[in-house]
Amino acid sequence: MLKGKTAIVTGSTSGIGLGVALSLARQGVNIVLNGFGEVEGPKAEVAAAGQAHGIKVGYHGADMSKPAEIEALMAYTDAEFGGCDILVNNAGIQFVAPVEEFPVERWDAIIAINLSSAFHTTRLALPGMKQRGWGRIINLASVHGLVASAQKSAYVAAKHGLVGFTKAVALETATSPVTVNAICPGWVLTPLVQKQVDARALADKVDGEEAKRRLLAEKQPSLQFTTPEQLGELTVFLCSDAASNVRGQAWSLDGGWTAQ
Ligand code: NAD
Repeated sequence: MLKGKTAIVTGSTSGIGLGVALSLARQGVNIVLNGFGEVEGPKAEVAAAGQAHGIKVGYHGADMSKPAEIEALMAYTDAEFGGCDILVNNAGIQFVAPVEEFPVERWDAIIAINLSSAFHTTRLALPGMKQRGWGRIINLASVHGLVASAQKSAYVAAKHGLVGFTKAVALETATSPVTVNAICPGWVLTPLVQKQVDARALADKVDGEEAKRRLLAEKQPSLQFTTPEQLGELTVFLCSDAASNVRGQAWSLDGGWTAQ
């Protein structure tokens, strides 16, 4: 059903974004990758995942904190792929500090990348989706879109904002063939979280395995990390016909974190 559609997955050179791109590619979806760092490896991996369907894989290096570059990403997708059918707003960064010590530049960067970028991609993608009569917008929020943790004021503000934005746009599109939802993962062991594991190991003077166990034990009752594969498969479900009346939801995949 998704074969031949085109997805933009922001921040997909690593972690969750790459997992989502791989799951969509396996369904025959053409993929526009985005993000920093090494590109050829992820591009080849995604192409291999969609090989049976002969998918097309592109890349655009837009810095998602810069509206003009986001416009260039959307224009590239229109020109090279005929438009964006599935928009996965995933690019995100983290910074941990008490609010009175929080660097102003980090606050601005987190709000720009984790929140405002979704406004820009959405406003630019929606007209084409409506015109073609189908669309899916999926925002990678977080448990921190629903509850808070200390020392993460910018991240929590941005993710709560992203959940609110998801609901507002879902209402605006409620009678259209475009659905808008958020996914709220708990801990996922990606480079973003590895930094927090390393910081915890240093602070508690324990090894990496013990630091992981302590992070999980504090928040995630299942004591297991959510995986990029699980998030990719949830994304595929939200793109399916079965999910066509799922609108404005913030869907947790958090090992019980927010049930507490
Ligand atoms: P990650 O660090 O592995 O990947 C982040 C991706 O975003 C990379 O591809 C990176 O290059 C890209 N990126 C960063 N800044 C960018 C910018 N300015 N422009 C374009 N791309 C940029 O992180 P991840 O853990 O996979 O996180 C992905 C998303 O999931 C984020 O929005 C994050 O907040 C969210 N999330 C992560 C977890 C977790 O436990 N890892 C939990 C909940 C939510």
